[in-house]
Amino acid sequence: MDRVLLRRYLRQFADLGVDEICLDAMSAAEAVAVLTNAPTVLTNAPAARTNAPAAQTPPVGEAANRLSVLADTAAGCTLCGLHTTRSTVVFGEGSPSADVVVVGEAPGQEEDRTGRPFVGRAGRLLDLMLASAGFPRAEVYICNVLKCRPPDNRNPLPEEVRPCTTNFLHGQLEAISPRVLLAVGKFAAQALLDSQEAIGRLRGSVHTYRDTPLVVTYHPAYLLRSPQMARVAWQDFQLVRKVLDEQA
Ligand code: SF4
Repeated sequence: MDRVLLRRYLRQFADLGVDEICLDAMSAAEAVAVLTNAPTVLTNAPAARTNAPAAQTPPVGEAANRLSVLADTAAGCTLCGLHTTRSTVVFGEGSPSADVVVVGEAPGQEEDRTGRPFVGRAGRLLDLMLASAGFPRAEVYICNVLKCRPPDNRNPLPEEVRPCTTNFLHGQLEAISPRVLLAVGKFAAQALLDSQEAIGRLRGSVHTYRDTPLVVTYHPAYLLRSPQMARVAWQDFQLVRKVLDEQA
């Protein structure tokens, strides 16, 4: 990783209150040599990214077209009560040919205002953790289980999750056909795995969603409130890296 970029990442992590991280493709000795007044280096990450073959990935144009049709449908969706309180439908964004798809819970206030998933401080932290593990935001696809914001950011209800996943999320994932899924937060993990297990029991191993490997981690909004958990979350991002590299 470029040293100037690395320093910038680490300053941004520190600004967000995260004071311990792991580093991708760099030994502890190398990192310590680079850093001054930077967060503690915890471990070495797996080898740098390799390009996996794209044999099973749908053509980009086809995926983009399918996503576009779904997004147009979602824009006018009234299948659950959230359509009465939303400002904007936050469908998702990113590369239609992404190897990695990140699935979160639901739009928050800033997402509802901008129409983009994972913006604000939690979005910045997600971007940093992705990029530092070798996944620039532009190369992944990011979406939520729910496309409309629950009032006051309350928890999603089953009668909201069911129609939104059936009509939009499953279609998005089928169109993109990623090599790895990263579910961030309890609701995303439980919705994709059809499970009621606690996130602490789901993270740390590789699950399967319709033949696609799925890794679970904590939501970045939770990590901002509990920065001591960033170390654990970092291991999850490295697990995504490992799963992807093993497919190369
Ligand atoms: S949350 Fe999903 S199902 Fe509910 S109105 Fe929005 S797009 Fe439709």
